[in-house]
Amino acid sequence: MIRFEDVVDKVRAYSPEADIELLRRAYVFSALEHKGQIRHSGEPYLVHPLEVANLLAEQRLDVVAIAAGLLHDVVEDTLTSINKIRDVFGAEVAHVVEGVTKLGAIPFSTSEERQAENFRKMLLAMVDDVRVILVKLADRLHNMRTLDHLPEQRGVRVAQETLDIYAPIANRLGMSKVKNELEELAYRALEPQAYETLRQKVESRRKQMEAVMAELEATLTSKLHEAQVPVISLEGRIKRLYSIHLKLKRQRIDLDQVYDLIALRVITDSVKDCYATLGIVHQTWSPIPGRIKDFIAMPRPNGYRALHTSVVSEHGMPFEIQIRAEDMHRIAEEGIAAHWKYKEGRVGAERDEQYFKWLRQLLEWQQEVRDPGEFIQSLKIDLYPEEVYSFTPRGEVKALPRGATVIDFAYAIHTDIGHQCIGARVNGKLVPIRHRLKNGDIVEIVTQAGRSPSRDWLAHIVTSRARQKIRHFINAQEKQRALEIGRRLFEKEARHFGINPKTLAADALTKVSQEHGLQKVDDLMAAVGYGKVSARHVLQKAVPAERLREPEQPGRLASMMRRVLRTGEDRITVRGADDLLVFCARCCNPIRGEKIVGYITRGKGVSVHSATCRNVLNLMYDPERRIEVEWARSEQAPATYAVLLNVIVEDRRGMLAAVSSKVSGINTNIRSMEATTGEGRGRIDMTVEINDLKHLQKVITAIKGVPGVLDVERVTRHVGVRAAE
Ligand code: MN
Repeated sequence: MIRFEDVVDKVRAYSPEADIELLRRAYVFSALEHKGQIRHSGEPYLVHPLEVANLLAEQRLDVVAIAAGLLHDVVEDTLTSINKIRDVFGAEVAHVVEGVTKLGAIPFSTSEERQAENFRKMLLAMVDDVRVILVKLADRLHNMRTLDHLPEQRGVRVAQETLDIYAPIANRLGMSKVKNELEELAYRALEPQAYETLRQKVESRRKQMEAVMAELEATLTSKLHEAQVPVISLEGRIKRLYSIHLKLKRQRIDLDQVYDLIALRVITDSVKDCYATLGIVHQTWSPIPGRIKDFIAMPRPNGYRALHTSVVSEHGMPFEIQIRAEDMHRIAEEGIAAHWKYKEGRVGAERDEQYFKWLRQLLEWQQEVRDPGEFIQSLKIDLYPEEVYSFTPRGEVKALPRGATVIDFAYAIHTDIGHQCIGARVNGKLVPIRHRLKNGDIVEIVTQAGRSPSRDWLAHIVTSRARQKIRHFINAQEKQRALEIGRRLFEKEARHFGINPKTLAADALTKVSQEHGLQKVDDLMAAVGYGKVSARHVLQKAVPAERLREPEQPGRLASMMRRVLRTGEDRITVRGADDLLVFCARCCNPIRGEKIVGYITRGKGVSVHSATCRNVLNLMYDPERRIEVEWARSEQAPATYAVLLNVIVEDRRGMLAAVSSKVSGINTNIRSMEATTGEGRGRIDMTVEINDLKHLQKVITAIKGVPGVLDVERVTRHVGVRAAE
């Protein structure tokens, strides 16, 4: 059984300056917290964190990682809070402990490959410090080594998770030693009988294979010696049971048909010596064509470098040889941990171009790292910066682009769920549809029958799937409404000219449709509804001029192209449209003198927006529904507009009075006024009655002139298109 002093000795050996006191405090703390707890093996719980710390010391990691290893189960398994850890051991240790605790809380429920990949990515995405993963892997390794003591079902679950999630992560981080052991242990736990059968078969050949290996080793050693190629180590090994198992499964063969059960590994001095060794090997034995792999010239994504070749021995037995330089070997075994060794002074302070290059490859880094020095000093990694991973309540992972919202998530599940989405419960809390998701969120979409998407949703999504579905829905819906409006406009226009639309020959309208490149009469009517084609134009094309009765009030026709429209808002004219309802949009409430644009709504007339209104951009998604409008000349007494102003002031007495007296002083009515303060600033929300744009500018200038006023802003609400219409 490992003792704390063994860990200390290991750390001292590679880092004489290390803060052993920190480790000792962590050890004592962990011992007190876990006191009385027993593992399934019957041993005191403390054995586990101690073993984890020992594994980390074997990887020659820094004291922060090892202290975190000693403390990694304290928050999860005892009453200690992460704040306590932070108080006693500092932010860095606490950060790693917290990361490990969070990983432990992820519910893993499936071994379906695509899902498993998402889990792995999510896990890595949640980690912002490499040491979190290193501690977690050490934790898992020790748990796997002691798996026999767990109740069988739980053991199987842990083993499956190890095989699906943790071994591939170790592999991705280049830590082949850890990966290999995890795989062997998981295989043994998951398929105990197959494992045992295979083990016995391999064991029965061991003697023979060992004899062959000894011969091969001797031959190659002397050849390399002759050629004066330095050899640091040269040894044969029997392949791991799990990799033999995979091979048998993959090739659907029997163990008797597997001949390359053994492999040689040569560790030499330099890249040059690696290639020299390869040459000697090929002079000694015949290479098998197509089996030479140069991972030095082209390293694997996880940083692995070596030369591989397969040859046939003089007895006709094929086997594999791996050739590496010493530094390559270290990285091949330890992966990212090889780069995370304790360094004197600050961890990772040195700039090492190769290292960053390697790390970037390793992490499948997509974007440029802005400042590698800063990057490593902050100990941050962001392995999948483009994606966010969240769960359905059933534990299925959805990978979405970063910035994805509840709406994106809803559409990722099902189109109908998306259409009827009204919000979500994220980790049990109700949130609105535009809420952005974070890694690890558990998202339960809330729907309501009869709800439907609106155009403003487009501003709150990032996935193309959601965009496409929402647009499709809105377009279909708008077309339906345009069709209704178009029909109504046309019927009205026809009656206006004494024509009963029902008596019109259908083929007359069909002909007009075709002239406009439209297939059906419905399309033509929709075009009228959209404002693309005027109802009168259609009528004149469809009916011979002599049949059209002169409409009543011919005098009004003269001003048809520019007429004042009936409504309460009779200050705006609309060009080229007749009898449309006009109203000012509530979102921006444009005032006289301002540049304005009109938009033909779905059946409610023309909404008029300020040209600077943020909603206008959204509305112009449908450019054909845009319509020119302008302020009518009016001899009437000017109407007033209620305008909301936001005044930012210094937080001091009398500001409210000063602003209100100034505004009243220039003959302007104040409808309401309200002040709030906070963070050394005051804010006054006031609604004033404004005649036109010039008047507004005058009021704003006047308020800005009040001492203590920092800023004045006219408030336009950014509201959904529905409200805007
Ligand atoms: Mn643990």
